[in-house]
Amino acid sequence: LWLQTAQLSMLMNLYRESTVDPLTKLINRRVLMRSVEQLKKQNKIDNASFSVIMFDLDRFKRINDSHGHQIGDKVLIMAAETIKEELKSTDIIARYGGEEFLAILSGIQLNQAIDVAERIAKAIRTKSLLLDSGEKIYVTSSIGVTQYKAFEEIEETFKRVDDLLYHAKDQGRDRVISDAEVA
Ligand code: GH3
Ligand code: MG
Ligand code: MG
Repeated sequence: LWLQTAQLSMLMNLYRESTVDPLTKLINRRVLMRSVEQLKKQNKIDNASFSVIMFDLDRFKRINDSHGHQIGDKVLIMAAETIKEELKSTDIIARYGGEEFLAILSGIQLNQAIDVAERIAKAIRTKSLLLDSGEKIYVTSSIGVTQYKAFEEIEETFKRVDDLLYHAKDQGRDRVISDAEVA
């Protein structure tokens, strides 16, 4: 029995390692896409009302270049925790790419999602990482917000929110851009 338990726990660890991002402890993009596919199969998406927020940290390469990768990692963890703190436990939050995060807020309309995104942008902008030298490292984020349109493919939703994020970068970073501004 002990052996079985040990094996099971080893398997569970392997599973967690391949599904959870070790740095931020968020689910990775692959798991996110798989959960979305599951919901689609169960017909839980087509008529569902939910919004998607995509975040990308601004000028993140500079933080790595000036302070090193380890400090960069700490800033990433800080940003992930900030996003998690500001969202409900029922929301899905994933590390979508290197310094990109994606959140799915179920039952949330565009206007509410914009408010949430602005709140998170402010929280990220306000927090800082204190270095041993006494220096504080700040980071800002560019954010896209969109609402899922009934019966569209989730890829379309993600493409739209990615474009909105690109607009946010283009318009000077440290801002939230949604369908409301671009439509
Ligand atoms: P932009 O405002 O246009 O988004 O600029 P940026 O520098 O954030 O964007 P860019 O895509 O040029 O660089 C992203 C950087 O994020 C480069 C990469 O080294 C860093 N990065 C990605 N993943 C990690 C990670 O896990 N740890 C650390 N420390 N850095 C990471
Ligand atoms: Mg990026
Ligand atoms: Mg970036």
